[in-house]
Order: sequence, then C-alpha cells, then structure tokens
Amino acid sequence: MADVGAKSSTNFIKEIIDADLKVGKNEGRVHTRFPPEPNGYLHLGHAKSICLNFGLAIEYGGLCNLRFDDTNPTKEEPEYVESIIGDIKWLGFDWGDRLFYASSYFDQLYEFAVKLIKHGKAYVCDLSAEEIRKTRGTLTAPGTNSPFRDRTPEENLDLFERMRAGEFPDGSRVLRAKIDMASGNLNMRDPVMYRILRASHHRTGDKWCIYPTYDFTHGQSDSIEGITHSICTLEFEAHRPLYDWYVEALGIHHPQQIEFAPLNLSHTVLSKRKLLRLVAEGCVGGWDDPRMPTISGMRRRGYTPEAVRAFCERIGVAKRESLVDTALLEHCVREDLNRRAPRVMAVIRPLRVVIDNYPEGQVEELEAINNPEDPAQGTREVPFSRVLYVEQDDFREDPPGKFFRLSPGREVRLRYAYYITCVDVVKDAATGDVIELHCTYDPETRGGWAPDGRKVKGTLHWVSAEHALDGEVRLYDHLFTKPDPVDVEGADWLSNLNPRSLEVLTGCKFEPSLAGAKPGYRCQFERQGYFCADKDSSGKSLVFNRTVSLRDTWAKIEKTQAGR
Ligand code: ATP
Ligand code: MG
Repeated sequence: MADVGAKSSTNFIKEIIDADLKVGKNEGRVHTRFPPEPNGYLHLGHAKSICLNFGLAIEYGGLCNLRFDDTNPTKEEPEYVESIIGDIKWLGFDWGDRLFYASSYFDQLYEFAVKLIKHGKAYVCDLSAEEIRKTRGTLTAPGTNSPFRDRTPEENLDLFERMRAGEFPDGSRVLRAKIDMASGNLNMRDPVMYRILRASHHRTGDKWCIYPTYDFTHGQSDSIEGITHSICTLEFEAHRPLYDWYVEALGIHHPQQIEFAPLNLSHTVLSKRKLLRLVAEGCVGGWDDPRMPTISGMRRRGYTPEAVRAFCERIGVAKRESLVDTALLEHCVREDLNRRAPRVMAVIRPLRVVIDNYPEGQVEELEAINNPEDPAQGTREVPFSRVLYVEQDDFREDPPGKFFRLSPGREVRLRYAYYITCVDVVKDAATGDVIELHCTYDPETRGGWAPDGRKVKGTLHWVSAEHALDGEVRLYDHLFTKPDPVDVEGADWLSNLNPRSLEVLTGCKFEPSLAGAKPGYRCQFERQGYFCADKDSSGKSLVFNRTVSLRDTWAKIEKTQAGR
C-alpha cells in the first residue's frame, strides 16, 4: 500500500514533535502507541487515532506500539482483542513485534504502587465508593480528607499486601494517591489507584483480585514502553496533571500526553458503549452490520482501507471538536472506488422486456468496457437475447417533462447493445401494475450507436433474462435520522434510529460475469452505485451490499460552501 504513511499536511501535534526533535528531546526518538481497551469493536473514531499514531511513526521514522489497555476484566473479552488486531491490519498498519498488554505490567504496576506507599504518597482507604464520592467535593467546593489518609507507610503496606492476598471483600478498601483534596482538578483529589475486584481476567486469569485503575495504568505503561508522545482524545486533558504526577512521583521516563479532538460523524454514533447497545438490543445485525460505523461494518459494506485512510487525512487533527458530515466519508469512498471498481450491469428492481423482432433463441455477446477510468481493466462480453430485464424506474407510462427513459413510443439506448422502442405495455389485470414491456430493436444500432446519427436521450442498463444470475441487494441509508442523534433532550437517543436504514431487494438480476464473485468483491452496478458482495453471498444466490450510491452530495456541499 503505497500511500500508507505518505507525507501528510502539518498539524499542531507535528509542530510539538518537530520542536522536541529540534532540542534533542527523547534522544531524537518518536515512539507512539495505539491503546484500545478490548471492550468492543473499533469504530471510525479509532481509525482516526490509528492513522494518526501509526502515521506519525512512519513519517518520523519512529515506532508505534499496539497496546491493549486491559485493566477492566468485567468488560473485556478475547473476541474484542481478535477483532481489533484484524481491523488494524486491514487498515494497513503494522506494529511489528510490539504487541503489548497493560495486564502484562500488573506486577510492575504493583511494585510502583508499593514505591508510592513507601514514599508516603499513597494510602489504603476504607471508605466505600459512595463515601469517597461524597467527600470528593465539587467543582466549587474542596473535598475533605479521608480519615485513613494519615496511616503510616508500614500500615498501608501491610493492608495493601493483604488486599492483594484476598483478605478483604470486593469494594471494601482501595489504594489512593495522596495528592490534594482541595485541588481545583477533581482528578487530583486523592484518586483511586487500586480496587478489590474478584473477576477473572482474559489474560491473567485469577492471579489478581486487585486491579489498577486506568489512570494508574496508562502513563506508567507508556513509560515502561519508552513512549515519547502519548496521543489521546480531549476527554483526557483533565487527567494530564495526574498522568504527570504519577510518572514524576515514581521518577520514571516521562512521555508527553497530547490531546486532540475526537472525531464525531453525522447521523451515527462513535462510542463503543453506544454501539454495544445497538448490538445488544438488536437494532442492527451485529458489530459488522454494514450500517455500523465500525471498521468491520465498513469493511463488510465495501469501504476500502485506502478510502478510510484518505478520509482520516482529509479531516486532519485539531484541538476543537466538530461534527464531520458523513457525506465527506462517502465522497472519499466514491473517489477511491471510481478508480478501481469494475463496472457491471445489474437490475435491482426488474421489469421484463421482450424484444418482439429479435430472433427467438439467438444470443449475441456484446463488448462492454470494464472501467472507463482505467483502460487497463479492459473489456468483457455480455450476452444479449430476446428477453431482458430493465429497471422498473426506467419506464413511465406517462412520462413527466424531463423523463428521457422508456415510455410508450419512446426510443432509448440499451448500453453496449441496441436502440429499442417501446411498442406495448402489459399490465396485471387485477392490480393494473406494469408487468412486461414489448419493444422492437433496430439491428443497425449494434453497440448502441445509430449510423444515421439519430440521437436518443436515455441510456439504460439491462440484463439478459436467460443468462441472469439471481440474488439479493441490500440498500443502506443513515442509521439515524438526525445529524447529531445523541442530542435529544429527555428522550432516548435510540428514538432517532432511522426505520428505513436498510432496504432489502430480492429477485434482483445480475449479469453472468458476476458468477463466482467472492464475498468482499467490489464493483459498480452501472447507474446504481458501488456494491460489495456480502459474506452471505454464495454461488447459488448472490447478495450485494450497496457501499455508496453514485450521487455525490459532498461535491454539492463543497460547491455551496465555496459560493458563500
Ligand atoms: P469509546 O468512547 O468509543 O468507548 P474509548 O476512547 O473508550 O472509545 P479506547 O479503546 O479507550 O476507546 O480508545 C483507544 C484510543 O482511541 C484512545 O486513545 C482514544 O482516545 C481513541 N479514540 C476513541 N474514540 C475516538 C474518536 N471518536 N476519535 C478519535 N480517537 C478516538
Ligand atoms: Mg477509553
């Protein structure tokens, strides 16, 4: 993948790194990490963070680690670890032999905690979680010191060892850092470092009944790995003083935490907790439902890693939060697929057409261009015969002014084939629905061009009935009706789900060249959009997901913005 890590535009993080390199900080090293918690599947927001962290390492000739931030055993599962590894590889990034787990540092973290206890910087507190919350104070009022704050290091050490040994029930005691209960930053008011929790860990099993908190784990893990720039999203800004306090108090290598604005995308949610709820409550078919903004969902839908990376590059990195329009993501997908996806013909809502003057039993192989954007993709042959399918939408009995497709008496072009004229309409006697058209063709127009120069305004795609492959097409719309679905006063954000986000069409007809299309195969159905063969697709019945339609709403948005 040639453009992985291609030099990208500058941003405030690069300015920080450039300045660090200039003064020789970190011996000139650049070492980042991507630290997912294995409690769900990765989404597009994570893709932004992955592209940023791995991209910086590539650009500066540095390294980027993959580290699972697995300190919460009740929510974490090996299934998530597997999916995360697969998703990052799919995006095109490589951590070499640097796959780490915070849980591998549990022994070291325990030793760090002991060190802080010995230096009088941590104490065992017997207050309940509720009491700790109550005595923490508020943004405007200081907290109050715990009655256990002045325990001696010896007593703390003894109690902490016994916490580890399993002598006390879950939740009965915690280890807290002794910082400042009057700090203006609530995170600094004697934060919890360790809690008692009897839960099996996906990697350490039942070895531990005490687990370190995120705050006591993250910076130390960064430090152990020699990370230079610890890049995270804005919500950790208020945690930075604590990050700094721990590594300073321990006297260990001090990585620099840098915060950037998380990605927010319109008409969807980017939060593992919320996505988990969509899965758990059956609002979607699973984590890889093509409507999901997960990497696995986007992959199944047919998005390419190149398009996702291009999108992440285009949105850039900033300190202020904003809402990115989904149309931009789709624009990037379209731009990439336009170059690479072969064109084929498929009729997704078929209407039967009989060419009355075409010889019964005759079949012609007509030449069709695979990709006008890429001549190297060559041509293929498409069979033409007396009975065809066209789109129901491409016929109107009473055509409105600007409708140039088929209607009684009207001549149109069948792509790569012939000019045809509609001569008769067959209707269902009971419903009055049009069920079949009769047309005549002009044998002189083979290839779709009239030697006498006469023009037609409509060009339709079609599939020969006898040769067509059968199957299903799934069309997708936004998962939510509102651009910012979570912004609902009082109401549950699920009330903004789009009831029409999935439309399943059966009885679709595909040109025979699609025989054997494997799941993941991407192509353009002429005039319908880009499609990708689903994992449910088989030789017997094809199933295609519409990746994105051909209408580029982003181009329109850009134009109106430019015109302002
Ligand atoms: P979520 O809020 O979806 O649960 P998270 O931050 O809890 O995500 P982590 O597994 O902790 O999930 O995230 C790993 C990394 O991805 C973190 O460094 C986090 O800052 C980053 N990240 C998460 N969401 C986004 C986002 N929307 N945009 C950019 N980076 C993100
Ligand atoms: Mg997190």
